[in-house]
Amino acid sequence: MFRRTLFSDEHEIFRDSVRRFVAEHVAPYHDRWERDGQISREAWLAAGKHGILCPALPEELGGAGADFLYSAIIIEELSRVGASGPGFYLHSDIVVPYLVNYGSAEQQQRWLPKMITGERIGAIAMTEPSAGSDLQSIRTTARREGDQFVINGQKVFITNGQLADVVIVACKTDASAGAKGVSLIVVEREHEGFRRGRNLEKIGYKAQDTSELFFEDVRVPVGNLLGGEGRGFVCLMEQLPQERLIQAIRCIATIEGVLEWTTDYVEERQAFGRPLSAFQNTRFVLADVKAQATMMRVFVDRCIEMHLAGELDAVDAAIAKLLSSEMMGDLLDRCLQMFGGYGYMWEYPIARAWADARMARIAGGTCEIMREIIGRSMFGNKERAS
Ligand SMILES: Cc1cc2nc3c(=O)[nH]c(=O)nc-3n(C[C@H](O)[C@H](O)[C@H](O)COP(=O)(O)OP(=O)(O)OC[C@H]3O[C@@H](n4cnc5c(N)ncnc54)[C@H](O)[C@@H]3O)c2cc1C
Repeated sequence: MFRRTLFSDEHEIFRDSVRRFVAEHVAPYHDRWERDGQISREAWLAAGKHGILCPALPEELGGAGADFLYSAIIIEELSRVGASGPGFYLHSDIVVPYLVNYGSAEQQQRWLPKMITGERIGAIAMTEPSAGSDLQSIRTTARREGDQFVINGQKVFITNGQLADVVIVACKTDASAGAKGVSLIVVEREHEGFRRGRNLEKIGYKAQDTSELFFEDVRVPVGNLLGGEGRGFVCLMEQLPQERLIQAIRCIATIEGVLEWTTDYVEERQAFGRPLSAFQNTRFVLADVKAQATMMRVFVDRCIEMHLAGELDAVDAAIAKLLSSEMMGDLLDRCLQMFGGYGYMWEYPIARAWADARMARIAGGTCEIMREIIGRSMFGNKERAS
């Protein structure tokens, strides 16, 4: 059996505490959050109180200064039980790194303390109704007027969109400059002209809020610009390896969780006077799932190791996201089959996990864009896809 070698005893102690947090503060409420279309603010505050938010934030910025493995543990423990509602990973490991890496000391002081406690929730808004994969073509504009930017435009499919207080918005500060005209500007809940649209109805991730956002003459101080004017696209590209690794970590942890549930089910469920696990087909199908999951686990752990060493590049991360998301779709489908009609019933976690899984092949860069990135790296075409 392969044994994971990444984690120390301290990491495992932390994992136990995350498991307890999930059992106490997430699992009992997840059904209600699905009906509400979002998780509660109390859950965010509880996560802050238990050290579940922003563990990797450096100590000098008020965080625990932990390594990325602590983030990985939180992501794994939520994924393992199918808790897709909390967008903690997006807040802690996608939004906050922009503030850490590109924010000034003043900006960090302004936003981070309340993001550690869960009082302020983060989101990142890139996608628009007419531009998703092709980020250079976004139309949201930020016009400079004195010491303010005036933002106009619209975003769609934004995770944490209903709850978010601090939103990093990709805008065009120079509409004629393509990628070099993209800037990142922080818009806060209180800014006049910033409005949320519908909480979008999705086929999965029902406990996670995903929204349209509207910006009508939103005036923000120039001090809300992150990373410099025209540098937005570069910043986005720099952050993508970690974002895509996170997706891969979620995929493999979900596969492992679902394999456990399925193994338990086929041992209990009887047909023709025997447990399902007594049929050779059941054992063969689950043996295939186990074999592929083991291979993916080794690969994703190696990617985590490379990321810790600062060696994971955009192509490696694209490979991890592409393969793990496609594998998850395939393996969860095979597991669902083992549940028969119950697998199609929403009250069964396998049904929810199967519906949730479809998202991984689209969000955070589609599989086709992952193939573009990998393909371009092979043939010397340096033109970049997001
Ligand atoms: C649940 C959910 C949460 C999300 N959260 C966020 C978020 O928090 N923030 C955010 O900014 N966005 C978010 N997104 C948006 C997501 O990142 C986009 O949906 C994704 O990047 C695809 O963009 P699109 O939907 O515009 O599809 P399009 O770009 O229109 O793509 C449509 C199809 O064309 C294919 N295609 C496009 N270009 C090429 C090409 N060059 N070669 C081959 N095929 C191509 C695509 O792969 C896809 O199959 C979320 C999406 C979902 C579903």
